[in-house]
Amino acid sequence: MSDAALAIPAETAPSESDAFIAAVLDRMAAVLAPENGPYPLHEPRIGGTAWDYVKDCLDSGWVSSVGEYVRWFEEKLVETTGAGHAIATVNGTAALHVCLLLAGVERDDEVLVPPLTFVASANAIQYCGAHPHFVDIEPVSLGVDPVALQAHLERIAEMRGDVCYNSQTGRPIRALLVVHCFGHPARMAELANVATRFNITLVEDAAEALGSTAGDRSAGCHGRLAALSFNGNKTITTGGGGAILTDDPLLAERAHHLTTTARVDDPMAMAHDMVAFNYRMPNLNAALGCAQLEQLPELLDSKRQLAARWREAFAGLGGVRFLDEPSWGHSNFWLNALSLDPPYAAQRPLLLTALNRAGYHCRPFFTPLHRLPMYQDQPMAPVPVAEDLAARGFNLPSSAGLI
Ligand SMILES: *Cc1c(COP(=O)(O)O)cnc(C)c1O
Repeated sequence: MSDAALAIPAETAPSESDAFIAAVLDRMAAVLAPENGPYPLHEPRIGGTAWDYVKDCLDSGWVSSVGEYVRWFEEKLVETTGAGHAIATVNGTAALHVCLLLAGVERDDEVLVPPLTFVASANAIQYCGAHPHFVDIEPVSLGVDPVALQAHLERIAEMRGDVCYNSQTGRPIRALLVVHCFGHPARMAELANVATRFNITLVEDAAEALGSTAGDRSAGCHGRLAALSFNGNKTITTGGGGAILTDDPLLAERAHHLTTTARVDDPMAMAHDMVAFNYRMPNLNAALGCAQLEQLPELLDSKRQLAARWREAFAGLGGVRFLDEPSWGHSNFWLNALSLDPPYAAQRPLLLTALNRAGYHCRPFFTPLHRLPMYQDQPMAPVPVAEDLAARGFNLPSSAGLI
């Protein structure tokens, strides 16, 4: 909604805008003293046993994709999330790619996905030769809106046998890729119902949501498959890394096979039985991951405390709204966010300039993916909520180390 963003009320006096920006800076300073900055958007907190595990891994010589830390990291992920199986990968994008392949996504299929997400969500769809089909979000969690999704599918979907087709493009709609934006859980129960009704496979992009829950289950344990990310800017990091979660033992086995170049399990043969990927997480990264998972409860606790401070600081300031966790789950508060009320939306560039200049690294929400050059001509539902919020929202410094 760049049009709305441009609709600056002509009568907005500069002084009024300055006063608003000063008020926001004031509230920021109440949480993070400017003299102690600058404050990056998100920094890892590496401590605990990290040095010991990484040194042990180096000493062992098992630094690459075979090793005890990878297995241990996967076991710990299973424990942490409650998923049946976890397969560690080189990054979250690779995990997403394999999730979609295992969900049966093929060339010229369509995958439903929200536009307000990191570009990897759509790139992974494209890696399968399929097309992202953008659907709108709801304003509470910024996750896919199940009501709007159902209405859209009722309008355009056509069941042929048990396969859902987009009647406008003639292509199968194979999967729904739900994103837990900034760590806030999407409305999984309702989304699962819509997916079931149209026989569309539910996959979760839980890259931002380790430690979040929707209902009584972890984010990443609602779909048939889910992807996590452990990039340096995520809640825990392995340097670069990701994981595939699934409850299905057969899918887990195939995920393992697809990510390890389809190596045949035979010590007497160096053979492969299909074209596959070199997507396994190296042991060195997994060693760091094991230490980070031990720290996860304390990281989540710090992030929750920081979110409480932001919430309190901005409560009662007209013109901004703190994006809080939804009633249907718990957020890991990966990235805290504010949205400007519509009359203030046009001030975002000035405000962000002032905030960044003062040492608060704040950035606007993701540009909606259908606004990027490579995704401009994809099938889509009307996405007024995504467009509106993308124009009004920005993220606040959110590192666990700030507490
Ligand atoms: C970070 C992220 C990814 C990709 O993870 P990488 O590990 O950076 O490849 C995918 N989807 C979303 C929503 C993300 O935030």
